[in-house]
Amino acid sequence: MTDLDASPRAAAPTRVQAGPAHPTPGARTAHRPLAGPGAALTGGLLHDWQQRNREASLPLALRQLEVAGNLDNMRAAAAIRKGGDGQGSTTGAEYHGPVFMDSDIYKTLEAIGWELARDPGGAGGDSWRALASFADGAIGLLEQAQLDDGYLDSYIQVSGEPRYGRLASSHEMYCAGHLIQAAVAMARTARSGQPGHEELAGRLLAVAQRVADHLVATFAGQEKGLDGHPEIETALAELYRATGQRAYLDLARQFVDQRGHGLAGDHHGHGQRYLQDRLPIRDTLTEEGHAVRAMYLEAGVVDVAVETGDRPLLESSIARWEDMVATKTYLTGGNGSRHSHESFGDRFELPPDRAYNETCAAIASFHWSWRLLLATGEARYADLMERLLYNAFGASISTDGQRFFYVNPLQRRYDHFEGDDPGRRHEWFSCACCPPNIMRLLASLQFYLASTAGDTLFVHQFTGATVQAPLAGGVLKLTMTADLPWSGRVTARVDQAPDGRCGLALRIPSWSTGTEIRVNGEPASADPDEHGYLVIDRDWASGDEVTAEFGVTARWVYPDPVIDSVRGCAAIERGPLVYCLEQADQPERADLAHLAIPGAPPLRERRADLPGIGATVVIDTDAVHHTAPAPGHWPYRPAPGDPGAGERVAVTAVPYFQWDNRDGRPMRVWIPQVPSATR
Ligand SMILES: [Zn+2]
Repeated sequence: MTDLDASPRAAAPTRVQAGPAHPTPGARTAHRPLAGPGAALTGGLLHDWQQRNREASLPLALRQLEVAGNLDNMRAAAAIRKGGDGQGSTTGAEYHGPVFMDSDIYKTLEAIGWELARDPGGAGGDSWRALASFADGAIGLLEQAQLDDGYLDSYIQVSGEPRYGRLASSHEMYCAGHLIQAAVAMARTARSGQPGHEELAGRLLAVAQRVADHLVATFAGQEKGLDGHPEIETALAELYRATGQRAYLDLARQFVDQRGHGLAGDHHGHGQRYLQDRLPIRDTLTEEGHAVRAMYLEAGVVDVAVETGDRPLLESSIARWEDMVATKTYLTGGNGSRHSHESFGDRFELPPDRAYNETCAAIASFHWSWRLLLATGEARYADLMERLLYNAFGASISTDGQRFFYVNPLQRRYDHFEGDDPGRRHEWFSCACCPPNIMRLLASLQFYLASTAGDTLFVHQFTGATVQAPLAGGVLKLTMTADLPWSGRVTARVDQAPDGRCGLALRIPSWSTGTEIRVNGEPASADPDEHGYLVIDRDWASGDEVTAEFGVTARWVYPDPVIDSVRGCAAIERGPLVYCLEQADQPERADLAHLAIPGAPPLRERRADLPGIGATVVIDTDAVHHTAPAPGHWPYRPAPGDPGAGERVAVTAVPYFQWDNRDGRPMRVWIPQVPSATR
């Protein structure tokens, strides 16, 4: 289990040290992601989240994969293979959980892949050894379970169901896609120099390539069906990038082009819209169906488009992104309003209380937006990524990193339930797609901070980090200091500069209420270019310093009246953060169900350290508490009533990402306004 030094099936890992979504040199992208040492998170909230992920969340995942039966499923598949018949065995082995249990193992392995390289200082320590040891054992199981022709899926192998017999719901290629992404992650980080890391990467890549080769042999040039859950498309494109094997990209393109022709079949009568098979992707104008599936497919669409130079395909994806942001996105950045089929709803169907907003959908949107950011170089994609990160995604994890939301509503009432569930975070789920998905994103977060275009380094996200990029005249290396989201001050110090002129570009966040930029103390223009970046082009020297002061003054924000469910409400934002009211912070007499705000009352910010939450910035404001109707009261009346009549109370808002870390009582983001006629 812990002998990391020898394997008869090891293959040479790829030599590119990179992060997720790393286009080939020939890809048609405006920006290039950082390669080599790239970036590292060194301080601030994102760094703390990444550390918490490694120290609290990943160990939990390793335990849960054992408890929930994921590893037992793979052990059963391995035992059956050892028994000789591979499939349809009568050994009596039982399969546990949903058909896609393997994908939880793979997402965890992907997170481990990023982690093994992330912290060289900690290599050889207990944490590194535990992660490497788990990977060694899990990869060993995959090697033992994989059939001679490369096929690997513990559900099919244990159940004896025919392969690819019900692709609409079997998730066989979905699981294969996550296996491939784990292998790509491990391969891209394998030059960490840590003993055993390259060997693990080689073994996992060998398993993944045998799976991919099997898929190519089975599906290339055929019309045998599509997986009901997209994922394989982006995975195959990434495997092409990591290995140079063109057949993987060709199959990814085939799967993208075949969508919309009824090949995916039907998943329990949910219809073709549910699994993105209603229309060819190029004819699809809006995001529809299962939100995670739709956006995983978009990641594959953009990967295929940039690798094949297919501009119309890219433009169709951009058009759907624009439509989604304009009509189907919550204030938190979340998507997929319907609990029914975990799907996108109608345009502007964005109820705060019944928001589904699956955590995986926030991650999928983040991955899609990163690909579009690279493809176009436009800051609007980084803006959405930041909104997702600090709100829809950030809220999915408890302060202690041990509990997770699957569903992320913008309001919770006293008596909330879903089945028998009161709607709080859970340690794990019977369908556990979200927690290991969270872990693989947090483990790779540093790769999304910056990119290059020509001779310019673009910084998209501001946090404590080191960033280094190879430019024409040499390496430009920065140390960035920032206390976002609490303060808007960012300092970027040049530690190493190339010969000659080069550019340093800062995204000017769309939320900034006023921006000041200084270069070595001298005021500079803060006007962004047409793509949303301030580009400072000069002959940089070591010791140069750029400071940005972004305005994070708290502000009221109002929904367009077209969003029926929150018409007449307002919410609070500060910097990139969306705020919410939690019952825990309000005076005893101020019931969230009966609060309204008169006009736009002043917002008073203060730093606080709250039990269960820790360090934060809270916002105090004024509200009206109107009297609750008597029990049994008919809640409709012939006149509007007077919501302005009531007692004035001071209320306190906390960042949405920190909610539900206390007593499980109500929360709301959108607060009704007292109509102007009555205030
Ligand atoms: Zn999920």
